[in-house]
Amino acid sequence: MQKSTNDLLLSLIVLSAIAALLLYNFTKPFLTSKEEISSPITTSKVEIPKLVLSDAEWKQRLTPLQFEIMRQGKSEPAFSGKYVAFSENGTYLCSACALPLFSSVDKSLEKTGWPTFTKPIDGKNIILKKESSFLGDGKIIVYCALCDSHLGHIEDNANKPREPLFSINSAALNFIPAPASPQAPSQVPSTQSIGK
Ligand SMILES: [Zn+2]
Repeated sequence: MQKSTNDLLLSLIVLSAIAALLLYNFTKPFLTSKEEISSPITTSKVEIPKLVLSDAEWKQRLTPLQFEIMRQGKSEPAFSGKYVAFSENGTYLCSACALPLFSSVDKSLEKTGWPTFTKPIDGKNIILKKESSFLGDGKIIVYCALCDSHLGHIEDNANKPREPLFSINSAALNFIPAPASPQAPSQVPSTQSIGK
């Protein structure tokens, strides 16, 4: 009798372990997707080596407008930048260090006043920092992960509250067009068309 009680207890423990394992595996995808959604907002642990220059060196490398925006944290006036109404295919690099930041594929049509993207090319290439504010939630500011230059800020997406928009100053970006798609072989007239 004692043995069968022990067996029953053992079976219960094994069943509980299996149930716990199944429950974990069912809930895991939801936990993971939640982490992925919130991760662009948190300051990421960046493994990219830093490009550190003095202000004098930055002034040599950047235009006065780029220096004000990228090294002093200013913003260009809304709807003034060259990439606001711009829709060519290609990649937007950091104009201070050439790190690829955004793709034309992710450019949003939302009219925020600045070139706006739904996500960076790689979350590691940007750093997000929350501005301290006395009035409550501060703005989230976007920086280049390689050279720490100020790029722009995060806007709430009115249509998709869980998908913030990256509003970036045009002066902080340098657009590189995508390579032209391979040309079709030159049209050699067929003998039929020559004949007619
Ligand atoms: Zn940079």
